[in-house]
Amino acid sequence: MIAHMSLQIADFSRVVFFTGAGLSAASGVPTYRGKGGIWKSYDYESCACQEAFERDPEYVWEFHNYRRSLIAKCEPTKGHRLIARFEAQLPDACVVVTQNIDGLHQLAGSRRVHELHGSIWQLRCDRCSYREETREAPLRELHCPSCKSAYKRPNIVWFGDSLFPEVLSAVDDALRQCDLLISIGTSAQVYPAAQMPLVAKRAGATLVEINPEETPLSHAYAHHYRTTADEALRELFRSSDPRTSETR
Ligand code: NAD
Ligand code: ZN
Repeated sequence: MIAHMSLQIADFSRVVFFTGAGLSAASGVPTYRGKGGIWKSYDYESCACQEAFERDPEYVWEFHNYRRSLIAKCEPTKGHRLIARFEAQLPDACVVVTQNIDGLHQLAGSRRVHELHGSIWQLRCDRCSYREETREAPLRELHCPSCKSAYKRPNIVWFGDSLFPEVLSAVDDALRQCDLLISIGTSAQVYPAAQMPLVAKRAGATLVEINPEETPLSHAYAHHYRTTADEALRELFRSSDPRTSETR
């Protein structure tokens, strides 16, 4: 069901797409919560936090290699592509702020993407300054080729980690400067990301929520699309700009 929509994207000059796992659900990347959530088969405390990595890096890598292999097969959705097309037409008007670590926005062609929780394709070594980006899945060489002693680590924000300061600062700027924030497929349960749309709201932006289900933050949004990301974005762009509504 699509709620009242008199909203025209063309009426706004700076749009933030604030995305979560629900945007990638249609491409086959499991969400954390809801049907098929990955935490049903894995205990996250034993595979997605620093303590677990220090205790048993091979097991943590087994989980992340499972995720890499799964995500490597996934294509961007229509929703990802529509957002990328919008950015291509109006590069100064569009910023993506994503909680997703799957890289699907970039694969769809988006360039201005802030990854709040990092990327599963980026690796780092915490013992030296080694950095790497690779889509090899599963990753075979787990040890840092530079210092040779430590395990490489996925450059993602695990449970209990702090978010990257430089990303937080860029995201804060984007939130304060936008006049429209479209939140897509996020349960608003993972902090501090959950509260970020409110920064935009306090700065005067209009908030739109796309999610088939209500969330703890739904009350803060002026408009709601209670449907899937692909359907809502198609509808949103169709009513705003016929060129953007074409899908590949
Ligand atoms: P979440 O799993 O907590 O919630 C997903 C939300 O998407 C739910 O509210 C659900 O109702 C909604 N949803 C499901 N299908 C949808 C669809 N087709 N269209 C629109 N909405 C749909 O996701 P979240 O809020 O992003 O959780 C935050 C954490 O999950 C983040 O830390 C993120 O890094 C991580 N995560 C990322 C990925 C990914 O990179 N694709 C996958 C799983 C989890
Ligand atoms: Zn190293």
